[in-house]
Amino acid sequence: MTETTLSSEEAAPPHAIRRVRHETRRRALTVTAVETLTPRMKRIHLGGDMEGFASLGADDHIKLFFTDATGASAMRDFTPRAFDVAAGTITIDFALHEAGPATRWAATAAPGTTLEIGGPRGSAVVPDDFDWYWLIGDETALPAIGRWVEGLRSGVPVLTAVAIADAGERQSFKTAADWTGLWAERDLSGADDAAALLALTDAQPLPPGEGFVLIAAESSVARALRTRLAERGQPKAFMKAAGYWKRGEADAHERIED
Ligand SMILES: Cc1cc2nc3c(=O)[nH]c(=O)nc-3n(C[C@H](O)[C@H](O)[C@H](O)COP(=O)(O)OP(=O)(O)OC[C@H]3O[C@@H](n4cnc5c(N)ncnc54)[C@H](O)[C@@H]3O)c2cc1C
Repeated sequence: MTETTLSSEEAAPPHAIRRVRHETRRRALTVTAVETLTPRMKRIHLGGDMEGFASLGADDHIKLFFTDATGASAMRDFTPRAFDVAAGTITIDFALHEAGPATRWAATAAPGTTLEIGGPRGSAVVPDDFDWYWLIGDETALPAIGRWVEGLRSGVPVLTAVAIADAGERQSFKTAADWTGLWAERDLSGADDAAALLALTDAQPLPPGEGFVLIAAESSVARALRTRLAERGQPKAFMKAAGYWKRGEADAHERIED
């Protein structure tokens, strides 16, 4: 990716990714409401210390801190799906899977449950000046993909290709962009197999003009998709790929580059 730090007087060159650092501290929050968005996705609304919170990029992440009954602590990365600093609120979507402190916490959270968060430490802001966008990922990427689709300018073509367990996991987003949502259904046990997302995206011609591609999924899946898109001619500078988790590893976040 091309990344630039600009002073406020300088005009950004086209397609420049803007990096912004944020001051970060731990914030104490309390769950205010829990929604079952889809059978495997919990949407958790929290309120509390949100003063000074900033998140400028749709795929920014915050740290969530968990302590279990034995006092052992763990932290995991999640996307701020929505927030309102003035109201002191934040929304986080949790894709439920078999095990892990985040999944356990989300499965049992109820109004009054507390949570500490930190970050985001920074935002990488992809400009809304591309001719088109492709946002590709699995359940864990849906919060970032949803936020991204909702924030795009009116009429810009955006294709989302998301791997989910079954049709019940589909989400819809309110957007002024020209959104096409494609879904690949596969068992969660195959979430580290890129085949479903490769088949879905291979069937789509890359649109004309200059586009930006976001890929976020299990690490090996994200890597395979990035390689295929690069082979198809998508410039690596206009792609951001990340492993949002890794089969068999806890708390695995991998930025995928050459
Ligand atoms: C930048 C970033 C943003 C993210 N945003 C979100 C978000 O908004 N919502 C969200 O749900 N997730 C998000 N994730 C993914 C999330 O951080 C991981 O899934 C994390 O491992 C979950 O923690 P855990 O405690 O539940 O499981 P862990 O203790 O980390 O892992 C336990 C076991 O579960 C496996 N595992 C982990 N995640 C999954 C999964 N999704 N499906 C199947 N098996 C899994 C691991 O391989 C491990 O074997 C994000 C990750 C990154 C890096």
